[in-house]
Amino acid sequence: MKKISKNVYVETDFQGCNTGFVVTDDGVVMIDTPLLPTDALVWRERIAQHGTVRYLINTEPHIDHFAGNYFFRGTVIAQEGVREAIIATDAKRIKEWFKEDSPADYALVKRFKFRPPTVIFSKELTLFLGKHTFHLINLPGHTPYQTAVYIPEEKVIFTSDNVFYKVLPWLQEAVPYEWLESLKKLETWPAKVLVPGHGDVCKPNYLSEMRTGIQLWIDTVTDCIKRGMSLEQAQEKINLLDRYLIEPWDKEIAVNVQKMNVTHLYEILKAISKER
Ligand SMILES: [Zn+2]
Repeated sequence: MKKISKNVYVETDFQGCNTGFVVTDDGVVMIDTPLLPTDALVWRERIAQHGTVRYLINTEPHIDHFAGNYFFRGTVIAQEGVREAIIATDAKRIKEWFKEDSPADYALVKRFKFRPPTVIFSKELTLFLGKHTFHLINLPGHTPYQTAVYIPEEKVIFTSDNVFYKVLPWLQEAVPYEWLESLKKLETWPAKVLVPGHGDVCKPNYLSEMRTGIQLWIDTVTDCIKRGMSLEQAQEKINLLDRYLIEPWDKEIAVNVQKMNVTHLYEILKAISKER
């Protein structure tokens, strides 16, 4: 766990997404939850030393960000699309995964269910707690439903998965042109520290590098479409993995993610080029 500002703590080493919490005079606000139940219990212990969880913000609709909600109290807040996604996700699959892979985690999920948000918003929501302000803003990119959380008193932004620090970004549900705009918007906020969805905590100057990276994915796939290549040919040709930190044991997953990224971009960029 890292303390990244006066009252903000972050864990970047759990399996799944980065999770964080902010300690206010009136209780704790969590941003996302650990994927693994065993990690959730560790996290709960650490948070308990700082206060009671009042609110829990889920920044996006993927399971690695919300599976752990079950293990925490506090009102869950998220963008409306995230609530829909959580309700539509079947908890059986994750239970089966734990059953096969991790007895320690499986032992903790007997009565497990997902806990969807009870407070939702479409574009923006501002939460005041103690002396802290939490600006929740929907910034489409990695999915249409991403939420960035800006805490001005700490000069910290939780970017969600619109920022992957040096690690391979997932674009399987991306809205790529909106993603570029969202990164530009993040650059205008006076933060000193960014907590990305995945990868290490970083400085705001990484935003332009992230933008260049997404632009490269768009340009590479667009180029294949313009040359008249089929989806299969594009999947065969494109390899951007050298740009990212990939552990040897993650190589196979990375190859699959790249294929999903190319497939999704190919389909939507082709549709966009037909509209134009
Ligand atoms: Zn995600």
